[in-house]
Amino acid sequence: MVDTRSSSISPSRASTFLKALLFLAGVVAMLVVRALAQDPASDAIPEAIVVSPSPFQLRAARPRTIMTASSGSAGRSENNWNRGQRNINPSSGDPVIKSANGNDTDPSVKPGEDFYRYANGSWLARSVIPAGQQSYDTRALLKEQTSEQVRDLIQDAAATHSVKGSTAQRVGDYFASFMDEASIEARGLAPVADEMAAIAAITNKASLSAYLGSTLNSEVDGLTANADHVLGVWINQGFEDSEHNLPHLWQGGLGLPDRDNYVDPSLKMAEVRAKYQAHIAAVLRLAGFGDSQNKAARILSFETHMARTFAPDSDAANVFKQNNPWNRADFDVRAPGMDWDAYFKSAGLAGRSDFIVWQPSAVTGVSALVDTEGIDQWRDYLRFHLIEHYASVLPRVVAAEHFSFYGKTLLSTQEAPNRADAAVDATNGALAQAVGQLYAQRYFPPEAKARAQAMVRDLITAFRTRIANLTWMSPQTKEKALAKLATLEIGIGYPDRWIDYSTLDIIRGDAFGNMRRAEAFNRLRSLARLRQPVNPIDWPINPQVPGAVIMFSPNAEFFSAAILQPPYFDSQGDSASNYGSAGAGIAHEISHSFDELGDIYDARGRLGRWWSSEDLVRFRAEGAKLVVQFDAYCPLTDLCVKGKQVLSENIADLAGLLVAHDAYVLSLKGQTDVVLGGLSGEQRFFLAFAQRWRRIQSESALRRQITTDTHAPGEYRSDTVRNVDAWYEAYKVVNGDKLYVKPEDRIRIW
Ligand SMILES: [Zn+2]
Repeated sequence: MVDTRSSSISPSRASTFLKALLFLAGVVAMLVVRALAQDPASDAIPEAIVVSPSPFQLRAARPRTIMTASSGSAGRSENNWNRGQRNINPSSGDPVIKSANGNDTDPSVKPGEDFYRYANGSWLARSVIPAGQQSYDTRALLKEQTSEQVRDLIQDAAATHSVKGSTAQRVGDYFASFMDEASIEARGLAPVADEMAAIAAITNKASLSAYLGSTLNSEVDGLTANADHVLGVWINQGFEDSEHNLPHLWQGGLGLPDRDNYVDPSLKMAEVRAKYQAHIAAVLRLAGFGDSQNKAARILSFETHMARTFAPDSDAANVFKQNNPWNRADFDVRAPGMDWDAYFKSAGLAGRSDFIVWQPSAVTGVSALVDTEGIDQWRDYLRFHLIEHYASVLPRVVAAEHFSFYGKTLLSTQEAPNRADAAVDATNGALAQAVGQLYAQRYFPPEAKARAQAMVRDLITAFRTRIANLTWMSPQTKEKALAKLATLEIGIGYPDRWIDYSTLDIIRGDAFGNMRRAEAFNRLRSLARLRQPVNPIDWPINPQVPGAVIMFSPNAEFFSAAILQPPYFDSQGDSASNYGSAGAGIAHEISHSFDELGDIYDARGRLGRWWSSEDLVRFRAEGAKLVVQFDAYCPLTDLCVKGKQVLSENIADLAGLLVAHDAYVLSLKGQTDVVLGGLSGEQRFFLAFAQRWRRIQSESALRRQITTDTHAPGEYRSDTVRNVDAWYEAYKVVNGDKLYVKPEDRIRIW
């Protein structure tokens, strides 16, 4: 529904190195890169990435959607309490309670006239868009903040020289090796020599197939368009079989991001292809191969053949098209060419009988190329991609050439990120949970997790009641929704069980070897899941990445430690603000499991519609009222919000706010909250909600957002409060105020 990919170059496959380079702050590259490709208005971290297994539901939402609250630093200190009125806040045990940031409000604005400016007026007045950016908001602030935290702890680990085999040693030595450019230069291309020899030793279909099998990597997930090698594998439960993990096979092997980049006849794309061809030639030359111009032309033509067999991008909009169960024999019959026995054996999948093939035409296509293209052609293609794959840990000229195409040409990034940033990202990529463990130790202790989990329990309780009372959902559907809620797993902060890296040897001074061993480790770990029962709590996002992931299959959602930080969530801070900000964000995401995104996955993550058609009709009728409400918001005389385009997110915002408010009330257990900085708990709850949405942006960014984004501008999202009775009471909003809506006209849906 939100597949906004255009034919322009997207960074969905900028190779491992560039992903690492471009997406700082420990972002899960594959997920986010894909997400960015989906949502042109999204320029940083996704709100929540819907992973599985439904590109149909791939959305690139933004972190501000999930959590955007008061500006981080200066909460109210305890000096501002009115101790006389203080009752014990049941979910806040800490003596220093910070509230939503009253310093950012504009008290001259009446809340009922313009709640967004009342809540954010001072912040809006004093904030400036950073040079070179189009916008600034709490999401950007959080990204910077997290980036610094992660860099600090990785650099500290590198400086410490910890005991061999410890988490800090692995992390520190990985980083230090990546930074050791002198050693990398000194080794030249020697590290790839053995794999180059393996490519040279390919002489026939069997040895080619075996080599290709060895490149089957676990680099893909539910969001990938184009794996880094000719096929990618993702281990996840079946579309219809929630009991077993299966290999999901993906198309891959293109150097340009998407199929369309090869077949689009436009002049612009022809230019990109010409530059890509020049890049291939340059890489081959650097690697010491002769006849590089002709080889490059043939490699581009080879990849174009391959691209033509890829599933059209439009197919990604329909998850049912990806549900193609193949058994082992199907490969020989439906995809002749490859020696599949040799392929699966070296891929570590010998003896597997069942697969899910997401893009059958691509598997058939690549297999046919094994037959039709000569061995020499394959070898040149593989040599080029081998160098590309390891560009980040090869001599500087290689990395520079890589950036020159993927950074400058494809993404118009003029300056390569500095080596330290690239090293941080590479470390995050290779040792995701090792860094995550250090991150959680320092920034998200068990007490913080416990407090966030307590909030989530209240949210779930509130959801249960809301679902039971829905008017548009039939009783039969409600039963299924409640069953789905009961099995929904919510991961908070970090995994209960960390990945055991004890078999992964990280050696200081061996950047190439470290990368290679880490890849092998991650691949084996991924394949090992085939022998394990489905584990809904297998974390698809790292704690140090500020974001959230919805996994429809299995039925689980994850909120990282990095997103559960101030200003969204303060484990030492005021509960009312936490519920109004992070609570509303989490509840927003949970609601997606029960709305038109989640209605095709059941309680165990199996594909199949569980709403009745009557439910859908009634749900849409309710939504129509919200369309009208948002259509009336016009930030510029010639520019109004497109209510239909942003409807799905607005419904989730409303659900999130209503449920978070219920949960906040539950958390009080019948007591009255404290007054902080002159604000009641109810007031702080709604204030924190409105402060989530603060954002300054250029007019062109605003126009782009309204034209293309599935999220309305923040100020209108903040006005969701108009539909909530408790807001009227909290801020004494009355008939005649601009935002006033008559009780009978307030929209509920949830
Ligand atoms: Zn959403």
